[in-house]
Amino acid sequence: MATTIIEPGEILPPGPETPFLRRAGRASVFGDRARRFMALAEGHAMADFLRFMGHLAEAQQRTLDAQGAPLLPGAEQIALCKAHGMPPLGTQTLRRDPSWREGLQRLLEQVESQANDATRAAMQRLAALPEAELEAFADRLLGGEYAGLDLAAAPLVGAALQVYWVRLAAAMEQADFPRPEVHTLCPACGSLPGASVVRIGAEQGLRYLHCALCASEWNMVRVKCSHCESTRGIAYLGVEGGDEAVKAEACDACKSYLKILYMEKNPAVDAVADDLASLALDILMDEAGFLRSGPNLLLFPGAAAA
Ligand code: FE
Ligand code: FE
Repeated sequence: MATTIIEPGEILPPGPETPFLRRAGRASVFGDRARRFMALAEGHAMADFLRFMGHLAEAQQRTLDAQGAPLLPGAEQIALCKAHGMPPLGTQTLRRDPSWREGLQRLLEQVESQANDATRAAMQRLAALPEAELEAFADRLLGGEYAGLDLAAAPLVGAALQVYWVRLAAAMEQADFPRPEVHTLCPACGSLPGASVVRIGAEQGLRYLHCALCASEWNMVRVKCSHCESTRGIAYLGVEGGDEAVKAEACDACKSYLKILYMEKNPAVDAVADDLASLALDILMDEAGFLRSGPNLLLFPGAAAA
């Protein structure tokens, strides 16, 4: 494993005009991801899995295109969250409207023909669930309670919830989002980041954490643990001879890690697709004694890759 140690202070924090929150563009977020999955699948040992995820992301984009704005929190609720620096679309407080289940239905219909036998069986189990049980499934997934969950079906529910939360975040006003009190959770929905991205262009060299659920990205200075905020003992680990655009940012203080993607090395990197295409790095990190600090809602620990 190749290691680089960087000391805090080497990379300056952003200026005052830097956007602290970048919401996902609803016109292309999943379409771009689908193209990235398909590109990563070429010649990859897990090509079939990545290609299926590409089809799922295409279906997410089509579902997003077909659905309008969901029911938003009331103005009073939004103002209250803003006053307390709380995420207005918090997964634990927001009452989901039924359109997320309609979105799930649309996803299942679109990807059924591409699914393998195990995934198709999982789809049938989901389709047979009564509404209340499907809502309970979503609650547990969003709460990170994976024990006993149908892990083969969970990525499909995760994909539908991603579409719903991107719709929510896109329908809000930028001014509705408070600058967060807590920097380790999404300022829009309160979820954990699934990876982080060092950007190019207007935000050249700045690092943004990428929400595993609503795909919003929020700024955090570099060389800082995205889990415990320690700035000491941060190391960047990669697979020997592997993709230079994907590293694991590992923290010696809390023994956790999260992937970090460098657009400078490859401008097409995607926080979800590149994460799933680099499972070899997760295995190395596990062997080195580090625990992953954030989820990828399209793959759950313990579930076999399709
Ligand atoms: Fe979020
Ligand atoms: Fe840490």
